[in-house]
Amino acid sequence: MSTDAADDYLLRHLEEAGVDLGGTVVVLGDRTGELLAALPMKDGRPVLITDSYLAMEAARARVGDAATLLSTQDEPPARIDVLLIRVPKILALLEDQLHRLAPRLHEGSVVVGTGKATEIHTSTLNLLTQLVGPTRTSLAVRKARLIFTEPDVARIHADSANPWPLTYPLPADRKLGPIAGHEVTNHAGVFCADRLDIGTRFFLQYLPVTHGGDHIVDLGCGNGVVGTAAALANPTAQLTFLDESYQAVASARATYEANIADPGNARFVVGDAMSPVEDASADLVLNNPPFHTHRATTDLVAWRMFTGARRALRPGGQLWVVGNRHLGYHVKLRKIFGNCETVAGSPKFVILRSVR
Ligand code: SAM
Repeated sequence: MSTDAADDYLLRHLEEAGVDLGGTVVVLGDRTGELLAALPMKDGRPVLITDSYLAMEAARARVGDAATLLSTQDEPPARIDVLLIRVPKILALLEDQLHRLAPRLHEGSVVVGTGKATEIHTSTLNLLTQLVGPTRTSLAVRKARLIFTEPDVARIHADSANPWPLTYPLPADRKLGPIAGHEVTNHAGVFCADRLDIGTRFFLQYLPVTHGGDHIVDLGCGNGVVGTAAALANPTAQLTFLDESYQAVASARATYEANIADPGNARFVVGDAMSPVEDASADLVLNNPPFHTHRATTDLVAWRMFTGARRALRPGGQLWVVGNRHLGYHVKLRKIFGNCETVAGSPKFVILRSVR
């Protein structure tokens, strides 16, 4: 059994209802790997599908090669007998995944969702009803709730097309530099799916022009708008786009390839903070750190990103960070680099630079 109330409730239900776990069981969105590890393992099943590199590694640490670990960008199993959904915080990700997975369900498939009661909204239930079939919820137990959905195969096959990924044009504002008016692509769940973030917009106005052939890293690249803008401003630079989200890295690749005539100068990497980048190999790191998750977790990620950037920069290389003024990133940067300078500021945002 699991220590998490939502996982635990789901596992107890599977046992009490005698759900047959002998076929293809797919687990969507398990953040810790605990739910996956509690299921019977046989012939590479169950199958985990996740958008998060860290969730994938947490699952790998628990189950090794006994289960199949897939990203949200991989091809899902052709036939799904049991679909267990840990309801994600971002509904767009669930919408996209249901569009991909529902056609692989059959009349006899069992679909059960679980989550904290506060994370399950009417919109979650409506989405399941619309894309899979009739949906109801259980009573709350230890502040967790289950969702039961019966696949309505006729409806699934008449379903409308998946709206993801979305593409939108950036404002044609000259202050944004060479990327003004260009298109960006966002897969479901990626930061700022339908418009440019105001912090990113501020960052784009001040991106540096580097020496030819420099290695620039777009750290926490999201849809890749910052790195693509840097590539347009620095046509001979080598770019590395890095993010913890598979959806983000796929978005960055699509944004970059749509906007750069010769897209051979970039690599796209899924990983945690700067860990995939070699020591002393980067000239410039551009970073808009994550800030939407729990504050303590977010601070930790920012710390890992900044210390990783210091390790990966060549002596003289620079880390540029944009952030809300109140987050006080300059304190961390000064501790890590021994220096930090403000490149630009607005009432809400600051752009900070530290030199290795
Ligand atoms: N650079 C994009 C922009 O400015 O629009 C996105 C910035 S968004 C505020 C922060 C990004 O950091 C998200 O895409 C998120 O997935 C990514 N991220 C969060 N934790 C991460 C980690 N541990 N390692 C790498 N990237 C991470």
